[in-house]
Amino acid sequence: MALTSTALHQELVTGGPVPDDPERAVRYSRIRELLFLVGIVWQWLTLLAWLTGRRSARWQVTARRLVPRPVLATPLCALGYAVAEWLTVLPLSYLRGYVVEHRFGLSTQTRVAWFTDTLKALGVALALEVPLITGVYAVIRRSPRWWWLILAGLALPFTVLLAQLWPVLIAPIFNKYEPFRDTALAERIRRLAERAGVRVAAVLRMDMSRQTRKANAFFAGLGGTKRIVLADTLLDNFTPDEIETVVAHELGHQVHRDVWKLVGLGTLSTLGGAWLLDRLARPLIQRYRQRLGFSSIAEPASLPLLSLLAGLLGLLAMPLQNWFSRRFVESRADRYALEQTGRPDVFISAMERLGRVNLSDPSPPMLVKLILYSHPPIAERIQTARAFQPAAAPPS
Ligand SMILES: [Zn+2]
Repeated sequence: MALTSTALHQELVTGGPVPDDPERAVRYSRIRELLFLVGIVWQWLTLLAWLTGRRSARWQVTARRLVPRPVLATPLCALGYAVAEWLTVLPLSYLRGYVVEHRFGLSTQTRVAWFTDTLKALGVALALEVPLITGVYAVIRRSPRWWWLILAGLALPFTVLLAQLWPVLIAPIFNKYEPFRDTALAERIRRLAERAGVRVAAVLRMDMSRQTRKANAFFAGLGGTKRIVLADTLLDNFTPDEIETVVAHELGHQVHRDVWKLVGLGTLSTLGGAWLLDRLARPLIQRYRQRLGFSSIAEPASLPLLSLLAGLLGLLAMPLQNWFSRRFVESRADRYALEQTGRPDVFISAMERLGRVNLSDPSPPMLVKLILYSHPPIAERIQTARAFQPAAAPPS
């Protein structure tokens, strides 16, 4: 799970019951989970391929030869790894993002539109990753002993900046965001926020139907870029009452300052992860330096090894991060929505509709939930709504 504000991007997508064809939803979920697993194994294999036969060491030598100044060798190395990884993962991305989505009638994209989005994503990834990786290696070279600590210190302002800029700089590359014009609904949202005593962040409509029939909503941004985003697929297919409940859930994120929680968690993960990387990578390089063809963590040829270890650590941390998200972020936002609207019946129908539209598995296997679900499965969310007792009379 990316731990910037984009973590909230997957808002509400996971989980959901009462599809017209429950078996189809379960089949769709299992296929996605299987492809997730295959994707991880595939990525590890490609990273191992870099490390065996001294490929990454040879690429480092080539990169140094290709650039006029040594300072440019690290960014070129990073660029090469990123493009190679994109190419090796492309068939799987196509299967997951295009074939399966069309097979289940969810995607609205042509092949060309899908590929354009994929290229844009590559562009964004390169623009962020190449300077970032160059910076990381500069820090490792400057301070081989304490680089992990310095990096964690730098991660905080960087994550804050990214959380702030993501909604205005990166998200608009893929979709259009505009204030929505339904004045009656806007007025309801304003009243809801007033009752809750919050100054509502900007509420925007996103043309998600450009990619999919799925419905979604999310809260993102910090400071001046704070916003609640509602997909057109949600606005056009859900009743005003249901939309109000979804907005109340997003308002809950705003009131609970959840973006800050995720920024904090991201910084802690960076600190722990970088320290562990340092401890794990050094002895491995020491032991296998003949076979690897490089002898220091400060050489860019070590990037596939660091990526492999970081991937393993990330996978191990995933259940913990998702548990945190379910328990302290999403369940609380659900409770907030129930308290503010006082309408568990509407909450339940919104969840049921979401489950149908998004082909969600209402009750995934326990292991799948523990590892992959940032939100409680919708059967649980409905259970929470059924058990909900308004503390006072519902607000008028
Ligand atoms: Zn949420």
